[in-house]
Amino acid sequence: MKRVLWLAAAAMTVPTPSGAAALSDAIRADMPQLMTLYRDLHANPELSMQEVRTPAKLAAEMRKLGFDVTEKVGKTGVVAVMKNRPGPVLLIRADMDALPVVEQTGLPFASKVRATARSGVETGVMHACGHDTHITTWLGTARRLAAMKAQWSGTLVMVLQPGEETGEGAKAMLDDGLYTRFPKPQFALAFHDAAALPAGVIGVTNVYALANVDSVDILVKGVGGHGAYPHTTKDPIVLASRIVMALQTLVSRENNPLDPAVVTVGSFQAGAKHNIISDEAKLQLTVRSYKPEVRKLLLDGIRRTVQGEAIAAGMPQDRMPVVSIREGEYTPATFNTDALSKRTLALFQQHFGAERAQATPAVMGGEDFSRFWLADKSIESLMFWVGGTPKAKWDAAGGDPQKLPSLHSPFWAPEADTVISTATEAMTLAALDVLKKS
Ligand SMILES: [Zn+2]
Ligand SMILES: [Zn+2]
Repeated sequence: MKRVLWLAAAAMTVPTPSGAAALSDAIRADMPQLMTLYRDLHANPELSMQEVRTPAKLAAEMRKLGFDVTEKVGKTGVVAVMKNRPGPVLLIRADMDALPVVEQTGLPFASKVRATARSGVETGVMHACGHDTHITTWLGTARRLAAMKAQWSGTLVMVLQPGEETGEGAKAMLDDGLYTRFPKPQFALAFHDAAALPAGVIGVTNVYALANVDSVDILVKGVGGHGAYPHTTKDPIVLASRIVMALQTLVSRENNPLDPAVVTVGSFQAGAKHNIISDEAKLQLTVRSYKPEVRKLLLDGIRRTVQGEAIAAGMPQDRMPVVSIREGEYTPATFNTDALSKRTLALFQQHFGAERAQATPAVMGGEDFSRFWLADKSIESLMFWVGGTPKAKWDAAGGDPQKLPSLHSPFWAPEADTVISTATEAMTLAALDVLKKS
């Protein structure tokens, strides 16, 4: 298989060895400035759809590079366009939001920012998903491509997206005319830093790469009363417990075992005191799949199971449980199109070597980058991974990601200079390949 890819790579137009070295050197020269930006972004994270400082700063940088910049697309997004002779339109996206996490990395530039989350709770804020590496790479790539205009032909649409973590930002930008007010792409690229790969290793997943993610709330109503007299009540804790157990069979008994699926009950809250039977219990679920039909099977199955268990518990009609699917937070599965995935993996393997550029399996995480492709499936689309776990830590853990901080962990501290320099080089190469002069 590797041999085939190598042969395919050899047949393509790629930078000559001297060109490739020149690109690495140019990125190395950019790195001090890029790392200053990275540390600034890391110390000043902003929550989803509340990004103000970050887009303003990046918009100014993109104007300096000669891009035609539009701000406040999809509330706080930035679109920066560079037209450079006839050719394809390429969209390169970075997401810019941080998470309500109290940073515990101990880094000298660790975030001390606090903000009010949408829930109304005051929280620490941290770039715990590494979107600060994405933003910095986005600028680093724009800088290289602006400097190398003689080597490509086409239109570059650089998209800085808000609100990825809440699944809103890509949709907000598309709803605000991303494909009508700006050149519509034939190609879309993005990358994500990865905790499950050592720093500087690139992963490319073909076809489904990340899952459909649904958040589901179940309000289990009961008839409350004294714990000593259960026969006068309808106990929502017992009913909710039955529901939790019954939901386990959706994946194990109803779903085709060859189709990945996850139903996790991540929160179960009920009751206040030993001797009171509560009048409600609340469940929160994350539900994951790749195929639309599997998503439907799971969501329909949850509704049916909840209803059925309530009937079995003898719940009166006016106290039936309520299942709410948070449509606003849904992120569809991310699909990497076959041709672009294969072509880009071959390109990366030729440039970085097969050790540093690998085919990686799909995961059940979620990403709203998927929406840029779903809005028009004729687009060729790819999101690749760039490993961020420092090599020494990776080796000490025996390459077992379970022993290491994951994305969203308060301890996630990627080896940022390696992630940013590798990702900038990879993204620039992929862009030059798509926009190569005919
Ligand atoms: Zn995340
Ligand atoms: Zn992320």
